[in-house]
Amino acid sequence: MQTCRWRHGSEMRIRLFIAAALAALLTWMTPAGVSAQQLPVEYLTQRDGLGNLSVNALVQDATGYLWVGTENGLFRYNGAAFRRHGPAEGLADTAVLALMVDRRQRLWAGTREQLYVGTQGRFQPVRFGDQGLWADSSQSLVEGTDGGIILLSGRELFQVFEKEGGFAARRFFSDPQRAATRALHEIESLMADADGSLWMGCGKTLCVHDARGLTMLGAGDGVPEDVWRNIRRTADGTLWARGRHHVIVLEPGSRRFIDRTPPGELMRKATIETSLVEDADHRVLVSVDQGLARWRGGRWEVFGADNGLKIGSGVTAMLVDRDHGLWLGTGGHGLVRWMGYDNWENWGTGQGLPDDKVFAFLRDAAGRLRIGTRSGLVMMPTPQATRAVPLPGYRAEQWNSMVIDTHGQLWTASYVGSLMREDGHSGAVTQVASLPMIFNLLVDREGRLWVSTAQGLYVIEDTRSAQAPQVAPGLPAGSDLAREVTRRSCQGTDGSLWFLTAARLWRLRDGQWTDYLARQKNESDLEVMTCAKGGGVWLGQGASVWHAQVGASGLVKREQPSPLLRDRLVVALHEDRHGWLWVSTDVGLLIWNRQQWRQFDDSDGLVWNDLNARPLYEEDDGTIWLASTNGASHVIRPERLFAPYPLSAIVENVERDGKPLHVRDGDELPWSAGALTMQMASLSYEHRNALRFRYRLAGLEQEWSTTAIPQLRYAALPPGAYRLQYAVLNLDTQSESEVRELRFTILPPWWLSRWFFLLCGLLAVLALLLLYRYRVRGLHARNAHMETVVRDRTRALETRTRELELSQEALRERALRDGLTKAWNRVAMLEMLEQAALKSRRDGGTFLLCLLDLDHFKRINDTYGHLAGDAVLRDLVRRLSESVRPYDLVGRYGGEEFLVLLPDLGRTNGAARVEAMRMAVAATPFDLGEQGLLAVTASFGVAEFDPAHPAAGLELVRRADLALYRAKELGRNRVEYAAAEEAD
Ligand code: GH3
Ligand code: MG
Ligand code: MG
Repeated sequence: MQTCRWRHGSEMRIRLFIAAALAALLTWMTPAGVSAQQLPVEYLTQRDGLGNLSVNALVQDATGYLWVGTENGLFRYNGAAFRRHGPAEGLADTAVLALMVDRRQRLWAGTREQLYVGTQGRFQPVRFGDQGLWADSSQSLVEGTDGGIILLSGRELFQVFEKEGGFAARRFFSDPQRAATRALHEIESLMADADGSLWMGCGKTLCVHDARGLTMLGAGDGVPEDVWRNIRRTADGTLWARGRHHVIVLEPGSRRFIDRTPPGELMRKATIETSLVEDADHRVLVSVDQGLARWRGGRWEVFGADNGLKIGSGVTAMLVDRDHGLWLGTGGHGLVRWMGYDNWENWGTGQGLPDDKVFAFLRDAAGRLRIGTRSGLVMMPTPQATRAVPLPGYRAEQWNSMVIDTHGQLWTASYVGSLMREDGHSGAVTQVASLPMIFNLLVDREGRLWVSTAQGLYVIEDTRSAQAPQVAPGLPAGSDLAREVTRRSCQGTDGSLWFLTAARLWRLRDGQWTDYLARQKNESDLEVMTCAKGGGVWLGQGASVWHAQVGASGLVKREQPSPLLRDRLVVALHEDRHGWLWVSTDVGLLIWNRQQWRQFDDSDGLVWNDLNARPLYEEDDGTIWLASTNGASHVIRPERLFAPYPLSAIVENVERDGKPLHVRDGDELPWSAGALTMQMASLSYEHRNALRFRYRLAGLEQEWSTTAIPQLRYAALPPGAYRLQYAVLNLDTQSESEVRELRFTILPPWWLSRWFFLLCGLLAVLALLLLYRYRVRGLHARNAHMETVVRDRTRALETRTRELELSQEALRERALRDGLTKAWNRVAMLEMLEQAALKSRRDGGTFLLCLLDLDHFKRINDTYGHLAGDAVLRDLVRRLSESVRPYDLVGRYGGEEFLVLLPDLGRTNGAARVEAMRMAVAATPFDLGEQGLLAVTASFGVAEFDPAHPAAGLELVRRADLALYRAKELGRNRVEYAAAEEAD
């Protein structure tokens, strides 16, 4: 509660005077042109991927990318992140001094060593003999009207031309020209003018080269001696030049430059790089020692450290992007985005406000803007004021409400309940009352001052009288408006006065009070109201906005829905002259232009997102002031807040298994088990936080997905045709880009390819054929085999038969031969003897039959063993067979007795042969191997067949045996013949 009342009298007037004088002094002392607003700037640094913070050059390409040339690297910015372009892209050098995009969308980059030209992200150097062709400064590259590229290198000009598929350079001026004019070796900057002429900083002056030749300017042309670093022709035709210490302009039609150097000590430092641009409002900005100077409305505004601008060694580059956004390159603080450039001006304690918590604004008849804060009331003495100064006569209270009455008196109220009246002419301030907590002041068309307090509504009927506020008359006794907090008040276009309490809405019309229950039991308190231009009021309640109007059956409340209101708290409402509804919330500002909603926050330039629950202030010029807990925002061009917000999404890069993949629409990609990642981007630099990407991979998914992180990942996509459909939308602006498509096909892996299937088919057919042939051949083979088997079997059978036959023969023979000696056996011999006898009897022939027996054979066996005896027997047969004729028959009769049949021989003609047999045995000793030689003899008994007295075989054997016996008797080893009588 207010306890101390303001004192009247001379003391106060003296104080007022002193305060006014102080204010004037402060105004005068403020450096001319220093703009005091707090700049809504954002610093993009290494955290965002900008590797080096010393920016030399800035340019925006046709796609919308920002290119940032720094002392160490060229970076491309897409609004979300920087990407370095270096050796991998063909750019070997790191210090990038100059950047330019030409009309053919080529990006030229001049470094300290070389000039490069970049197309589609790849760079190639420009050749000049063996020498490098570096850029001197950020003002070193221009494109002539003929499309030729001119470079300033080593303070001389070079013309770039295409050669053998690449680029080369030659000197721009001929050797005689260069020899004749010293200035052509001392060029500091250049600018290609629309008429084809070239403006240059030449030595210590400016010169211009055109079809007539080179013209040097000088003091006579208004060009002071300086090193001219930046030259630019603005849209209105004015030629601007910034030297080290001067700014001069040549206005259209004029032949003489005029000096426009910002006043004060603003261009004293020897800065390495300077800059000069023209913004979308055709205001020229130049870099100055403190930061920036902007030529606006015939005077310079200066922005520097006081405005929160950190520039390091200076503003080395500036860029106005295609959406009118302003970017500053600094020498050491990276890239600066001036958020909401040229629309938002912000003020805080840095600009002289006694407190960052701001409540109220009012521009008085003298054009001074008053700002009520939590710790006092201040004003901007002039519209161009750079700093707020205290307003004399007001204590350091929380001044929250200001109005001008119909008599030009200013009324100011504070939360503690001080109600002050200020004379519009003298400036004298009087405390009129001390009331319980004042929330609002309202002057109606009838000139009454309504004072909304914590304990009911008061009114001063005649503001010129010294009358104290009275409890509003006519209010029903005990009504909430008469005793409770009056939260808001306003006067509608139809003259109705509206007052809001926590639950009820009161209307005073034609002296008649009506109240409406505006809040249901379960609803939150009504906090916010403003009069609607079309009748009725706007109400704010929690996160909703309502329109309320009196109908036939009472108050009709209709909600005004907004997709952006969710979870917010509406703290203030204002309908501007265009009928746009401004909704202050605890997290930024929403505006409804009757068609769409847009959201603005500190990333758009708003001073602070926590807006205060105080009415917005719309000035006569249509600009709007917003109060926050951290300063005030002045929206200079509200109409621009609904400027079209162009949005477009691009697929920035595609990677497969972590390797970049260049995919164009309609491309065919080989199948891979790895992941396909796609990076989308939106090259719009405002409302970045509200960007959402919408996408769907048609061919794989039906549903659309929405993401804030535009990185898509698809692992092991099956073969097939796909369409990546994508768009970007902005939640703040409720806008969405068109849907774009990237079509691509994933080819089947080799084992699923058509060729492979074809091959498989062929192979299968081949296999079937082979199988068939194999089967046929198998059948043939089997047939052949069967035939062979049959044949073999037959043959075997034949063989077997033959073998059988043979064996039978052998058997037969074996049956007729003696096993040991192979001579005919006894049976055979007797058979053949019978036959011989039969034959001789038949033919009348004769033959000899010898029976021989080895002598003392038993001894041989006993002395040398039976095996030796067997060997003797075998050798005996051999000796006998060799000593007889081939057709004579030798047989074993038994034991060591043998029969020999000698056909056709009788005793007379056969005796020699028999004797030869005896000698075959006896003449040569038998070889017993290791047992040595052994003499063996045999005795012979011989019988002769006498045809005259034919005898049987066995009879002959008997006779021979008798003869043999006699031979043994007669001493062995001899031959004895059977006598004829013996035959009897
Ligand atoms: P000799 O006729 O001169 O009166 O005297 P010898 O010793 O030959 O008389 P003897 O008839 O008594 O003996 C015949 C012997 O011949 C007896 C028997 O052991 C031997 N002998 C018979 N057959 C074979 C045979 O096939 N092999 C061998 N090693 N000895 C045989
Ligand atoms: Mg993988
Ligand atoms: Mg014997």
